[in-house]
Amino acid sequence: MKGTLESTKRDFVLMNAHLSGNLQVPCDVCAEPFDIMLDEDVRLLLYNGVYNGSDDKYDIIEVEISIINMDELLNSEIELIKSDYHSCETCNNKERN
Ligand SMILES: [Zn+2]
Repeated sequence: MKGTLESTKRDFVLMNAHLSGNLQVPCDVCAEPFDIMLDEDVRLLLYNGVYNGSDDKYDIIEVEISIINMDELLNSEIELIKSDYHSCETCNNKERN
């Protein structure tokens, strides 16, 4: 995974990252684990403190800018991807037949 952090306006940091590689997820149909290829852009707007509002373009994550933990942020992104619906090739083929 590659990423950059960039300060935009005061108290905001824009995180641009690209997730790529294999991720093992359980199949939602047969529960067998299988690998998916990740190829996703992740853009998060980090805000220093408690943010009351919303942004049309980005997900806003409240953090303490001084202790940004990129690994933690990425782990939560990966958890999100894992919680999506996935079905393995075997099950995909069954559905098609
Ligand atoms: Zn399956």
